[in-house]
Amino acid sequence: MSASNVAIAVRIRPESKIEREKKHPIIISRVSEDMLFFDPEPSSYHGANNVVAMVHGKQCPVNRRYKNLSFQFDSVLENATNKQVYQATAQKMLGPVFDGINATVFAYGATGAGKTFTMMGEPSQNIEGVMMLTMEEVFARIAASADTKRIKVVVSYIEIYNEQIHDLLAPPVKGKARVLDLREDPAKGMTIAGLSEETPEKLADVISIIARGTANRTQFSTAANQQSSRSHAVFQVRIEQCDRTAAITEPMLVSKLSLIDLAGSERACRTQNKGIRLIEGANINRSLLTLGSCINALCKPPTNGRRQYVPYRNSKLTRLLKDSLGGSCRTCMIANISPSGYNYQDTLNTLNYANRAKEI
Ligand code: ADP
Ligand code: MG
Repeated sequence: MSASNVAIAVRIRPESKIEREKKHPIIISRVSEDMLFFDPEPSSYHGANNVVAMVHGKQCPVNRRYKNLSFQFDSVLENATNKQVYQATAQKMLGPVFDGINATVFAYGATGAGKTFTMMGEPSQNIEGVMMLTMEEVFARIAASADTKRIKVVVSYIEIYNEQIHDLLAPPVKGKARVLDLREDPAKGMTIAGLSEETPEKLADVISIIARGTANRTQFSTAANQQSSRSHAVFQVRIEQCDRTAAITEPMLVSKLSLIDLAGSERACRTQNKGIRLIEGANINRSLLTLGSCINALCKPPTNGRRQYVPYRNSKLTRLLKDSLGGSCRTCMIANISPSGYNYQDTLNTLNYANRAKEI
């Protein structure tokens, strides 16, 4: 995979009320459309009132050193609408997907950094997320080529929690999620045995499918006394195309787009997890670390004609995505961060992860 098949965008969400009230400094300075500084020197940061406030404030020792790290990505989005984030990320996948190429869009970041807002939007405020904006365009493209092509959309919605796959579109059994297994099918590639699939024909169908899945996700979460921030939510869209004139025996062009709201990337220790929570944390980090290693390996050019080893098998998430990462597939990571010093370490970790993922 050439480096251009992996795109990394960073989205800086607005400061939250609590971050503002606690008067933490702003530690992110976006300097151009693809570059930002993490923890800049106050003097290098224009309009840095709260940085100065911090220097003279309580939170910070006088002799504090500023890391002043610069990071470059494919895009750095600040004060951006979901639509703008969509245009810089998932929208770019649709051309390849309709050409038969698999693609994956991830929202990465610590809990509270804005992953779900980015992917799902805020339905109560009529704010659409990347998922819905993507589906809108999928249906628009299908309508535009309706004269010549027959195109079917098949969707599924799962979560991966503690290295288990839960079907979010299947009715719960005794309040518990249906647990599914991955199968490697020689013809179809990686499949999930018994997975519920739906065939939405318009956006309204998708809205109700996602609402149902999200309601299940919440219900499973409560049942297992966990938070949805500990699971990866994976919405997959399969697009099956054939010419209207094609004979019934002609193969269809099939491709897959995966839209993923990843589990919070914060460290297990920070929330003082114990016991089962710690295991969950290890499993969440296993998937996230493996994902980073896979993307990283896929970005590296072959050495001595040999492709880099890609450790797909090390986690459920990467096994599931084996046919959607690498090769000619397109991958886009939206790394979500807070601008506030309140989340200093989480933000640095996210930037380092995103940076490592794109490293060549
Ligand atoms: P995560 O899914 O990463 O844990 P959320 O998406 O739930 O984080 O965001 C945390 C809070 O911040 C939510 O109340 C959300 O509405 C708000 N928020 C996140 N991103 C934005 C944004 N770009 N604009 C406005 N509010 C946002
Ligand atoms: Mg979330």
